[in-house]
Amino acid sequence: MDGCIFCKIANGEIPSNTIFENDEFRVILDNGPATKGHALVLPKKHYADLFEIPEETVANAAIVAKKVAQNIKEKLNCDGLNLVQNNGATAGQTVMHFHLHIIPRYENDGQHILWKPTSPSAEELVDIKNKIVG
Ligand code: AMP
Ligand code: ZN
Repeated sequence: MDGCIFCKIANGEIPSNTIFENDEFRVILDNGPATKGHALVLPKKHYADLFEIPEETVANAAIVAKKVAQNIKEKLNCDGLNLVQNNGATAGQTVMHFHLHIIPRYENDGQHILWKPTSPSAEELVDIKNKIVG
């Protein structure tokens, strides 16, 4: 897509620190990393988000993420790892080209990726369940 920076990076028009590439994806190091080794799985075709990306492509992205995560764990010796994928500005998405974050975690790395739990009532949970499955 014209003007999309991740299209240009994924297709090699803009240089990046690529750590994996195949026909469908390029995996690059994030240039504003949360932690050492923070990487992004970029499909070479433009899809804005989870709602646009085809099922098969997102499934393949997960397979690539697993391979890359395994390699990062071995090489960087991280203690844990988060997969994060933001959809929409409200959810923190800043680049509107689907990407999957691979974020290695290290003890005392000072990051806070997890959410703050809330306490809905049992009725509220049932109501939400009914809305989703109804
Ligand atoms: P998100 O908030 O999920 O849209 O994440 C966008 C991510 O892309 C952020 O973590 C940025 O640091 C990263 N980012 C933005 N531009 C670039 C770039 N040119 N090269 C590498 N990473 C980038
Ligand atoms: Zn794009």
